[in-house]
Amino acid sequence: MKFNEALKEIKTYEAGKPIELVVREFGVEPKDVVKLASNENPKGCSPQVAKVIADNASRAYLYPDDSMFELKEALSKKFDVQDDNIIIGAGSDQVLEFVSRALLTSGDSVLMSQVTFAMYEIYAKQMGAKIVRTPSYRHIVSEFIEAYNEHKPKIVYICTPNNPTGDATSKEDVLAIINAVSKESLVVVDGAYMEYAAAKDEKYRIEPKDIMDFSNVIYLGTFSKAYGLGGMRVGYGIANAELIYELYKMRPPFNITTLSLAAAIEAIKDEEFVEESISLHAQEIKRYEEFAQEHGFKYIDSYTNFITYLFDETIDSTEISDKLLKEGVIIRNLASYKMNAVRITIGTQKQNDRLFEVLERTLI
Ligand SMILES: *Cc1c(COP(=O)(O)O)cnc(C)c1O
Repeated sequence: MKFNEALKEIKTYEAGKPIELVVREFGVEPKDVVKLASNENPKGCSPQVAKVIADNASRAYLYPDDSMFELKEALSKKFDVQDDNIIIGAGSDQVLEFVSRALLTSGDSVLMSQVTFAMYEIYAKQMGAKIVRTPSYRHIVSEFIEAYNEHKPKIVYICTPNNPTGDATSKEDVLAIINAVSKESLVVVDGAYMEYAAAKDEKYRIEPKDIMDFSNVIYLGTFSKAYGLGGMRVGYGIANAELIYELYKMRPPFNITTLSLAAAIEAIKDEEFVEESISLHAQEIKRYEEFAQEHGFKYIDSYTNFITYLFDETIDSTEISDKLLKEGVIIRNLASYKMNAVRITIGTQKQNDRLFEVLERTLI
């Protein structure tokens, strides 16, 4: 059987390792596993949301409201846009997939920074597109403009704050890139961690409203990170109505679940939970910065719910990650991104205590 030629170019996405794997392979008790690998909210989700999910359990046999009217209404209020500016996906990942399928054909190219969210490449390659990367892991305006002019990519991805590095691109720089791109190309502004960046420094805050006037820009957001609903798989794209209309042609019916829909609607009502999550995070991340300073390695100033530690040649990120894993502490090795670095989700105080204790022993 012959598969689509495009598949030859694709390496499967390496997801953060699950708790179950550590329990199975290393015999660690589930309660002793500390999972700091997938940028989940360590506080869990809002208790109000958990209650709504439980209350809706008996409605699981029903398909969800396919218009997603209530969720779109809540999002349109939150972001001051119209409901025809919004498309909902099973995670913003699914919206990325819609974008890729709606725009790319074999031979097109797409542009992204050197080290960024791995799914951009995978969705683009599924369509037979070529990947162009800027030289730096940070989003540098001049590098984007130069690469854009040379390759005329069909899609330009701006991940701010950026995963897996944690740095962010200012609104001013994002607008500079958008302004340099012709209306023949789409700019995707992926704000999966925007809540954290906006809370840290206003100059990084990008609202869908700020970029909606451009016909060729889409903003992506998700409930997976600050809202603590990774397991519910709800994300959204916000753009002008014509673009959303085209993306809708890619959407399968009932693409999020009845429980996910109820959870996301409730999550928007409890913004206080998000604020609390961000302030816990702001306290705890300081300890990660201090730990790095004390142990003499570098880190990237983070605008997200994780921190990226950069090691010199005396420390090997794969070795460190493997040793931690055996002790039940799951972090994300960035060796597959060709970086001698690890990405660690900021956990609860207790989880972080354990991480520091194990990492300290491992480093000696
Ligand atoms: C987590 C993440 C997403 C999307 O996650 P979903 O769970 O699919 O909503 C998108 N972009 C980046 C950069 C992410 O880190």
